[in-house]
Amino acid sequence: MINIKTPEEIKKMRQSGLILARVFRDLIKEVKPGVRTGKLDKHAFSLIKKAKAKPAFLNFRGYPKTICTSINEQVVHGIPGVYELAEGDLLSIDIGVLYDGYFSDMTVTVGIGKQSRENAKLIEVTKEALARGINQMVPGNRLYDISASIQEHVEKNNFSVVRDLVGHGIGRSLHEDPQIPNFGESSTGFLLREGMVFAIEPMVNAGSYRVKTLNDEWTVVTADGRTSCHFEHTVAITADGPKILTEI
Ligand code: MG
Repeated sequence: MINIKTPEEIKKMRQSGLILARVFRDLIKEVKPGVRTGKLDKHAFSLIKKAKAKPAFLNFRGYPKTICTSINEQVVHGIPGVYELAEGDLLSIDIGVLYDGYFSDMTVTVGIGKQSRENAKLIEVTKEALARGINQMVPGNRLYDISASIQEHVEKNNFSVVRDLVGHGIGRSLHEDPQIPNFGESSTGFLLREGMVFAIEPMVNAGSYRVKTLNDEWTVVTADGRTSCHFEHTVAITADGPKILTEI
């Protein structure tokens, strides 16, 4: 069942999303070569607390940290720790917060120092794919219009979309219905309606779309060891079209 949010609820979700966007703005300033991912995690925790919000991932199904830091071939759910960021790394940071009863979810991928041409292209294409998916979030479109527009842009650029992980509805729960794959057939799926709020999150691999999970039972990596990239926004469908809740 898909929860339809009232305008009042969307206002609250916007508050949650704005807090998260500001956490990212402040956290990204600390991202540079030599910094440990565990330090970024601690900093994110204190920024979220300062904003009187709660970290949504901490203890979620036993997850041990506030943020996910996925480096290079890691796709999602990398656990922050002693790893020191190095020049040329690609780092995705995924954070969720809970504020006044509502969740927001956002991911940004940043290149550490100078990037390979492939990494730079991967960042650009994934960011564009997210924007294209969001643009489909208009009342009257269908769910897989979002998916198809993401897949089309990614594959046109000779990258692949991860199949095993998907976007999701969001609201009073971090993960609500529906699941939103980053691949699919346009003009299919249910009709999009005003008041639906989705976390759209293309995960794009430089090589094959196949992934596997490491023995820590969290970190998902590409099966071929090539780089992966991830961007995510929490977005509401309004009468005026999509409204991104996780931007400043
Ligand atoms: Mg998400």
